[in-house]
Amino acid sequence: MSFIVAIDGPAGSGKGTVTEIVSKKLNLTNIGSGAAYRCVALATIENNINISDTNKIIDLLDKINIEYKKENDKDLIYLNGIDVTKRIRESDVAKIVSQVSSIKEVRFKLNDIFRAQAKSQDVIMEGRDIGTYVFPNADVKIYLDASIEERANRRLKQNEELGITNMSYEEIYNNIKLRDKNDKEKEIGALKQAEDAIYIDSSNMTIEEVANRIIQIINKKRA
Ligand code: C5P
Repeated sequence: MSFIVAIDGPAGSGKGTVTEIVSKKLNLTNIGSGAAYRCVALATIENNINISDTNKIIDLLDKINIEYKKENDKDLIYLNGIDVTKRIRESDVAKIVSQVSSIKEVRFKLNDIFRAQAKSQDVIMEGRDIGTYVFPNADVKIYLDASIEERANRRLKQNEELGITNMSYEEIYNNIKLRDKNDKEKEIGALKQAEDAIYIDSSNMTIEEVANRIIQIINKKRA
């Protein structure tokens, strides 16, 4: 049986960065679920499909191939053979991803991909519904939270590092607020803390402090 770590929380809570650090230190395969939802959103844009045309988005699923790859110690995501790691962080994708992820057929297809990845290897997965729905029997469940202001600041910094400079703090703040609402009200796969998840508020913690705390929790469970 593989060992599964589920990290859930809202947009900008630091899940992505923390998961990357923990995955490297503990040699766990990092499966970013948000990145997969972003790939479906990007494919929707690239195929000029209107976001309200649910059937066309569902049809698109059969033509989409998503691969997680590690190159030079970096976690990359490929959509139909093309590295889209940076492209999926841009604002057009961010704007529609929450709506795309509300389509249940999209969730079923991506959940199958996630579960297949965890069959043969120890994984750490970050998302919204990993501990509640995708892996309800995960060995370790963390719910990572932070204030909206802090999360918007972090996303702004992350965008700068990726060379994305066309989104203001305000735009990011409003985007996060809207996504929180959509993510929490989603019919299936809503953002929710699992009953047996450990809650960590990272607003006043550094990324390293959060990562170390999670490593401690995992090591205790693995011992
Ligand atoms: O984590 P990230 O911000 O990249 O996720 C992008 C979007 O994908 C989220 O706002 C959410 O709407 C969706 N998502 C989801 N379920 C997950 C992970 C992400 O619905 N497990």
